[in-house]
Amino acid sequence: EAKQQGRNTWHWHGEDVSSPMSEHVEMRLELQEAIREGQFLLHYQPIVDTRTGRVRSVEALVRWQHPDKGMISPGLFIPLAEQTGQIVAIGRWVLHQACQDMATLLAEDATDLQVAVNISPLQFRRAGFLEEVEQVLDATGWPAHRLELEVTEGVLMSGTDRAIEVLHALRRLGVQVAIDDFGSGFSSLRYLRQLPISKVKVDRSFIHDITRNGDNAAITQGVITMAHHLGLKVVAEGIETVEQHANLRQRECDLLQGFLFSRPVPLERLKALPTCLPESTRDHAAAPTPGR
Ligand code: C2E
Ligand code: MG
Ligand code: MG
Ligand code: MG
Repeated sequence: EAKQQGRNTWHWHGEDVSSPMSEHVEMRLELQEAIREGQFLLHYQPIVDTRTGRVRSVEALVRWQHPDKGMISPGLFIPLAEQTGQIVAIGRWVLHQACQDMATLLAEDATDLQVAVNISPLQFRRAGFLEEVEQVLDATGWPAHRLELEVTEGVLMSGTDRAIEVLHALRRLGVQVAIDDFGSGFSSLRYLRQLPISKVKVDRSFIHDITRNGDNAAITQGVITMAHHLGLKVVAEGIETVEQHANLRQRECDLLQGFLFSRPVPLERLKALPTCLPESTRDHAAAPTPGR
């Protein structure tokens, strides 16, 4: 029976199913400690204007600095935290820290940057989430219109009524919402038309081979055309090459995010980055960026 349960609950890790249940339990306890001890930190990845290379926003990405195991990536612990509910505490910390960090940049007069924060489905659907957002904006002084929340398609599809209510309330606050990993789930195109969202982020799985794969290129073009028709901006994730950059520029994708411009970096390194990134990446780019 316990074995059966273990099998059912193990898929979160995306690892060997034969891993013992105790590992799951152990990580859960360690996460509890991490929350208590404040072992999380944020890295920031720039999102640039496709045409100018100007940094328009940064995405906050959480990391777990484990005392023995070193830096653990979110792909390894967010799914479990979502399952155990621990994501609520982690997510609250992330939202606050991201706005706080950005507010210090603002104080140093760094810009008109927006910050994008990932919000897990559980966090988004929880009663009190809106108040949490308001409190964070209040406490940090970060302007609502410079906060963008990234939600996945799943958030919009389950518990739809409540989700729609929250989306409208966020819009009234001035907070923007982007659909993350667009195309990777079973999204209905109707959501794009009906919901108060401002941006669509095309999933990396469509971008990585966009210069070679006609299907992915066509899907991406379709999303861009449709989003623009509806007045939404499009971000392409996972830009690693100048060829992908050129391809998406030609498709009039508005914004780009990827290792070509910068990996996610700690706040201190973010501060040191130039505000215009393609220039700075020319050195390690394979070829000169076309048209520049
Ligand atoms: P995401 O929101 O789609 O974030 C983008 C991910 O793509 C990040 O991985 C980023 O490092 C990676 N990435 C960016 N550019 C490139 C590229 O050019 N090539 C490749 N190969 N990868 C690139 P990361 O930081 O490991 O985060 C993974 C996922 O974990 C995120 O995907 C998001 O779903 C989740 N996550 C991260 N931070 C948080 C958080 O604070 N709260 C919640 N709920 N989820 C988070
Ligand atoms: Mg994201
Ligand atoms: Mg994403
Ligand atoms: Mg993604």
